[in-house]
Order: sequence, then C-alpha cells, then structure tokens
Amino acid sequence: MALIVQKYGGTSVGSVERIQHVARKVAGFRAEGHAVVVVVSAMSGETNRLIGLAQAISETPVPREMDVLVSTGEQVTIALLAMALHEIGVPARSYTGGQVRIHTDSAFMKARIEAIDDAAIRTDLDAGTVVIVAGFQGMDGDGNITTLGRGGSDTTAVALAAALTADECQIYTDVDGVYTTDPRVVPTARRLPKITFEEMLEMASLGSKVLQIRSVEFAGKYNVPLRVLSSFEDGPGTLITTEELDTMEQPIISGIAFSRDEAKLTLLGVPDVPGVAARILAPVGAKNIEIDMIVQNVGLDQTTDFTFTVHRNDAKAARAVLDEIRGALGARDVISDDKICKVSVVGVGMRSHAGVASQMFQALADEGINIQMISTSEIKISVVVDEKYLELAVRALHTAFALAEDHVNADA
Ligand code: ADP
Ligand code: ASP
Ligand code: MG
Repeated sequence: MALIVQKYGGTSVGSVERIQHVARKVAGFRAEGHAVVVVVSAMSGETNRLIGLAQAISETPVPREMDVLVSTGEQVTIALLAMALHEIGVPARSYTGGQVRIHTDSAFMKARIEAIDDAAIRTDLDAGTVVIVAGFQGMDGDGNITTLGRGGSDTTAVALAAALTADECQIYTDVDGVYTTDPRVVPTARRLPKITFEEMLEMASLGSKVLQIRSVEFAGKYNVPLRVLSSFEDGPGTLITTEELDTMEQPIISGIAFSRDEAKLTLLGVPDVPGVAARILAPVGAKNIEIDMIVQNVGLDQTTDFTFTVHRNDAKAARAVLDEIRGALGARDVISDDKICKVSVVGVGMRSHAGVASQMFQALADEGINIQMISTSEIKISVVVDEKYLELAVRALHTAFALAEDHVNADA
C-alpha cells in the first residue's frame, strides 16, 4: 500500500471519454489498496483558448485578472473527474488550489509555491476518498488566485508529493516517457528508462516541455521519486533519479533539447572599454528581461559587437531598451533577429569525454548549418542557429550521437 500522487496532462483529460478513462485508471490503483491524490490540467487547448480571449480584449491584460481567467480550465476538469469517479462508485472530492491551501507568492502568472497545508487531504485519504486537486494554481497571502506558469500542473503534483512525502509522483502524459529528444521531431527517438535529475533539469530548462522545469527542481530538492508515463498505454515510463548509471552504461549524450522561444539582439560597434557590458545589460535587467546567452567579440579598432539572446516574448522590449541607450553608449547600430532557435545536447557523460563539441559542430557543418552562437556548461552544449534548420539540426545530432541505438541506458 502506497501513497501515490498522479498528474494527468491536458491530452489525457481532453474529452469526456478520456476523463472516464482516467477515472477507471485511478479506481484501479485505489482497488489495489493505494491512497491516490490526482492533479489534473485543463482540457488540452483550453488554457490557450482562454489566453486568446484575454488578448482579444487587451494587448496587456492585468496579470491578476489573467490568473482568475486561466485558472478556470482546471476547475472544470477536477469537477468532471470527481463526477466520473462517483459514477463508478469511488468516493472522490475535488479541490481548487486555494481550497487545498497551496500558498504561493503574488507573482501572477509565474507564482512560486511557498507552503502547502495538507490537513484536508490527509483527512480525505484516511477516509478512503480520492483527492483531486486543480493543477497550475494556488492562492497568495491576500487570497488572490495565482498560477504557476505554463505547464505548472507538473509542479503542483511534485509539490503535493513532497508535502505528503508520497511514495511516488507519476506524471501521466501523451508520450510513454522521456525520450532522447521530442519524438514528434525525431520519430526514431528512444525512450530513456532512467534519466538523472541533473540532466532532466537541463533538458527542461533548454526547452524540452515534457516536464516543467520547476517541477524537476522541486523533485530534486525534496527527493521526490518522479516518473513520466503514458496515460494511454501501460509501461514502465521514465524514472527521474539521483543515481547515475555506471560508466559502462552511461552514454556521452543522453538527449537533445531545443527551443523556438528565442530572439537575438546585437549592438554593433560598442566602444571596447571596461564597464560597457554592465551598461548594456543593467537597463535590460531592470525591465525584468532575462538574458540567456551572451557573446562579445574581440575588439580590433577599439570597438566590439555585443550580442545576447532573450525569450522571444521579450524581444520587442529589449530592442526598445537598446535603441534608447545606443546613443549614450556610442554604439554604431542595433540589430535584432527572432528567426533563430537554440539546440542543445545534454549528458552527464560529457564530463569525462573530450571532443563532444567538435563532434557536434562537425555534424552541423556536414548539413551546411551555420552556428551563430555557442554556450557550454559541464553537461551541455547549446548553439543558436537559423530557425529554419531546427528539425534538420536535431535529426543530424540525434544520428551523430547514435541516440536511436539502445546499446546504453536500456530497460533492464
Ligand atoms: P501534458 O499536457 O501531458 O503536460 P506536454 O505537451 O506538456 O503534455 O508534454 C508532453 C510533450 O512533450 C510530448 O507530447 C512531446 O511532444 C514533448 N516532448 C518534448 N521533448 C520531449 C522528450 N525529450 N521526451 C518526451 N516528450 C517530449
Ligand atoms: N493548463 C496549464 C497550461 O496549459 C497548466 C498545465 O497544463 O500544466 O499551461
Ligand atoms: Mg505539460
């Protein structure tokens, strides 16, 4: 008998039939004697539809009202799932984030969970009731509804699992695990039986949307056993683990992540003097714009070109800042480009291997793909390339690092 937190994503609750299917799955776990807490997302497409309604009314909707709006999607699915469970004779109660006391800060649309009061959940579980919690939402200290950022239901599930010290947190989605790369882009991508937290964190932060990055951070911090599974077919899924594979099993590269949400900005001909990078980036940071990669060229004629990337949604605002400071900095010109993407190879095996970067760059060169920017850390290498090469780059790297072959990290 175990305490399990299960999360079902948008596709898994995308229709009445699918909700009934989830209800039967949950009933099955309960019949085996497990206590089950279920977190659900909104029906697939619903959150986007709600955002679309807001944008039809305002270009810059008030964040507080956005959260009142977008949190409604999950309120629908918790109620429907509870009804579906009642229909098959399983006691269940649904709760919104506020009702189950998921306390967050007040950063609307990207709130962070601060505390969870699990008393009501425990009382229900003790009585044999299935607890159903709306994903993605919480409540701040003033009673305002908040949401946790796109994909936030994953984080709700992991946070609940941590608060309840659950035996496992299971993320049910429309793929049967974490793959070497998005299987929609590379059909020969392979499911990984295991991946380390460290690698999963890199994959999520570099654009792989299978788990929200905060959910992985939370699971790592509180040691929550986390598994990604399919809600449509049975299987072992992927275990996110702190254990590293032994060196024989460990591939150099575990996966490839990519992101289209990038934009690149360049200040041309900036005077090459101390303090200039800070003078460029401070006003950008002051607008709450996060900077990702940075490249500064060597100055030959006492000037240099300074390039950085930001989230595509922030490109306009960043450009406005640069246009404003250009004169005072004495820079020659500003250029911006949002037709770019970032492709990254990730693997803890990289630590003990030389030559990964050159292998990566050669594979891209063989396809005639020009690299615009590069950044590295101990376990990843990222490049910025023209958006039109995204699929080609991901496929070429998947082949170059032989990720379709299951000679390493295979099911036992
Ligand atoms: P949910 O609605 O269940 O939260 P998401 O769409 O957020 O589902 O996440 C699942 C999707 O993540 C998959 O359908 C797949 O296209 C995408 N994905 C991206 N990278 C990977 C990867 N490395 N492994 C598996 N799925 C991935
Ligand atoms: N419904 C929210 C979204 O689409 C949260 C989630 O699905 O995890 O982002
Ligand atoms: Mg998701």
